[in-house]
Amino acid sequence: MQSITILGATGSIGESTLDVIARHPDKYSVFALTGNTQIQKLATQCLLHRAQFAIVNDAAAASQLRELLLATGCKTEVLHGIEALCQVSSAVQVDTVMAAIVGAAGLVPTLAAVKAGKKILLANKESLVMAGGLFMQAVKASGSVLLPIDSEHNAIFQCLPANYEQAALSGVSKLLLSASGGPFRGWSLGQMAAVTPDQACAHPNWSMGRKISVDSASLMNKGLELIEACWLFNMHASQIEVVVHPQSVIHSLVQYTDGSVLAQLGNPDMRTPIAHALAWPDRIESGVADLNLFEIARLDFEQPDIKSFPCLQLAFDAAAAAGDAPAILNAANEVAVQAFLDERISFTQIAEVVDNTLSGLDYSEPDGLDAVQESDLKARYHSANYIAEIES
Ligand code: NDP
Ligand code: MG
Repeated sequence: MQSITILGATGSIGESTLDVIARHPDKYSVFALTGNTQIQKLATQCLLHRAQFAIVNDAAAASQLRELLLATGCKTEVLHGIEALCQVSSAVQVDTVMAAIVGAAGLVPTLAAVKAGKKILLANKESLVMAGGLFMQAVKASGSVLLPIDSEHNAIFQCLPANYEQAALSGVSKLLLSASGGPFRGWSLGQMAAVTPDQACAHPNWSMGRKISVDSASLMNKGLELIEACWLFNMHASQIEVVVHPQSVIHSLVQYTDGSVLAQLGNPDMRTPIAHALAWPDRIESGVADLNLFEIARLDFEQPDIKSFPCLQLAFDAAAAAGDAPAILNAANEVAVQAFLDERISFTQIAEVVDNTLSGLDYSEPDGLDAVQESDLKARYHSANYIAEIES
């Protein structure tokens, strides 16, 4: 029996994780569930999955959750705040932590789970983008098992040999990172200037939270994933190529020196990578329908359009600059995406904000978590000021 904490249980990945877990009550039990604003949903999840602990951010949300649970006779204990998040990520009773909080808020609790040597199912790519060096060092030091949930990285993991940390020695020459191209594939910058948040969040193939949906529309998501792949698979950015594949059936590929290319295919449903990582190295049923190749009929591939999607280039640049440049990129992007969702800036101004922040700050090599958080704050402050300038 694996005992699991789900960070970000009320989100899209959290819900898919609970769906897979519920199919295997003999294998998985829920230790803790965490949420932020969706208190009613969290209460329902606690009751349904018999969580021992539920964590929210603030005291007011905690009292509201306690009341809801009391009314149903649910025995889940409610705690709040960042320390509580770290406690349920590192508790001795926990075997596995699903890291599915969105954005920089996921870094500290995920790192707590890594340091405690838990099996980590990593959806929160932002924590690797912000603090990849630190994060991977902590994984090595604690012996934590790190399994990628991001569909592309999960696909690559499945196609790599077991000794992939020495990719060069194991005959791997290149990683091919799939990208759907998002809802605005084929559009020019001018056409994208007036798109609404709902248009940007209407992904053609995947149903996801709003932040990652906007990132997918701007291709920043692919940029963040490139940085994520460098850290996860110990590869240089020059060994990774982005391939636009609109059907989202091939989730990514690995090219070997002998000319072989291995790919992982499947319907676009996050329950496949979640089930893979939960059961690894075994396999379990995920609830995802079998892939019907005759219905799909064709698979297309294109080069990414860097001109119309400048966020991808900005992420390549930040990856090349290294140091805290990826943390700055990530923070500026989070602030800009939120401003776009709040209808304070246009979709194409997201790239402008990130560009202005990356070029307006000096980079340094972070020597620990405090330094990473300082870079994150500095970038948030700079981009918020720039957005205020745009607005005035
Ligand atoms: P959602 O927005 O659907 O869910 C985010 C979760 O994080 C919710 O549980 C939310 O709580 C919680 N949360 C948000 N802000 C905070 C905060 N400040 N402190 C604590 N908890 C917080 O996002 P997704 O599930 O789509 O994505 C989660 C992560 O997984 C992201 O990093 C994303 O990049 C990654 N990912 C997602 C994929 C997908 O298909 N959805 C695919 C690949 C990666 P509440 O809702 O209660 O406010
Ligand atoms: Mg992905």
